[in-house]
Amino acid sequence: MTGSLFRRLLMGALALLAATLLAADYTLTRPLAPAEIRERILLIFAASLLAAFGIVFFVSRSLTGRIRRLKLLAESFPGGKSADPEPADRGDELSRLERSLAGVAVETQKLVDNLRYESARREAILSSMTEGVLAVDRDLRITFCNRSLLRAADFRGVRPEGRFVLEVVRDPDLRQMLADVLATGEPRKLRLKAAGTARTFEAQAAPLDTPTGRGAIAILHDITDLERLEQVRKDFVANVSHEFRTPLSGIIGYADTLLDGALQDAANNRRFVEIIRANAVRLSNIAADLLILSELESGADAETDLISIRGVIDGALATVAAEARAREVNLIREEVENLFVHGARLRLEQAILNLLANAIKFNRSGGEVRIRAARDGEGRVTIRIADTGIGILSQDLPRIFERFYRVDKARSREVGGTGLGLSIVKHVIERMNGAIQVESQFGRGTVFTVSLPAADPDGQSIR
Ligand code: ADP
Repeated sequence: MTGSLFRRLLMGALALLAATLLAADYTLTRPLAPAEIRERILLIFAASLLAAFGIVFFVSRSLTGRIRRLKLLAESFPGGKSADPEPADRGDELSRLERSLAGVAVETQKLVDNLRYESARREAILSSMTEGVLAVDRDLRITFCNRSLLRAADFRGVRPEGRFVLEVVRDPDLRQMLADVLATGEPRKLRLKAAGTARTFEAQAAPLDTPTGRGAIAILHDITDLERLEQVRKDFVANVSHEFRTPLSGIIGYADTLLDGALQDAANNRRFVEIIRANAVRLSNIAADLLILSELESGADAETDLISIRGVIDGALATVAAEARAREVNLIREEVENLFVHGARLRLEQAILNLLANAIKFNRSGGEVRIRAARDGEGRVTIRIADTGIGILSQDLPRIFERFYRVDKARSREVGGTGLGLSIVKHVIERMNGAIQVESQFGRGTVFTVSLPAADPDGQSIR
């Protein structure tokens, strides 16, 4: 208590002393009896004592109050708030201390608010990440993990924080990887299969400096879809090679036979050349279908036309008429309403052609194929192709749209199938925002139903 506060107290004490001395001087210079003087001096002494007590009482009460406020403010740090953010300047040290503490309180509050906001933002980002995030301390206890990780690990307990990593992610390899990162301080990578969810993850771990020493953080990327695509690509390459190998070996085999002398074998040479030709046609068909598929998959948009469904159906029927006659299958055009859709005409015609060709190929002599087109209750165009053919077993139905999937490989090959026809149909229809459905009764027949968004022909040229 130095400076102005001390000066004020000193002034108060001096004023009290001066008042006491003045009162004593006044009393002593009066012609009073000694007993009266004693009595007055006692009175003056008692009054000054009372005034001194009064001053001490009021000063200490005000000081105690202000110090208590400061104490409360200091104790509430960080982030504490001054009751009065701008305390009045009383010109003494306490008041200055109070003002600067109030200023610090405002600053720390801002800092705490910023930190809170930052940490909430980070928390929100981490929790909404599709990658699983997991942080551990040096004892391999979890300090943080997000929802994606808990989902990947199929963890159903509460509060994973504080648990050992193996209690949450039951994968010893992940635990070992984190232990290695903690021991070496070097990042590590690992591919792991999550138990329970049958998904594959690529985990990347790196050291993480924490206030309690070195920890580690791991990020788990779900690569299941990527892996599946990789597998689909591998299968596709294997399938294509396989599909090409059979006709190619036929061509090479019969060409060798001809070269080895069969050219002169008048009874067989023509037949051998026909086999070579048939195999070459098959190769060419596969190549053509693969080309169409790759164009459809690459998303290269063919020109969009306003297409007349009647035109498409009649065109496709004319193309397959000869084949139907040859196989003694009766083609029946039921009611085909005058409807229109948007899309690539050649592609839609190709799709309807594939469906009609299948309905004829997988039919029996004397069988029927019926086609009709109408508008359904939701205003969509529905094309229905029904046959009385061999039908498809229900277990095969979900797979017939896959590339190279054939229920009966030998029969498909015999009728010149590539196994790509229905994949093309599905792609074409889906690219036109349509859908295709199939129903079948084994031994009795199959119905394919295509539904497409209808188009309004007003004012547009029709193809
Ligand atoms: P494919 O070139 O063999 O016809 P698709 O992709 O067009 O190839 O058809 C796949 C398979 O689905 C066929 O091999 C056949 O087993 C079956 N399938 C397709 N359409 C019919 C149908 N209308 N009736 C019976 N089976 C069919």
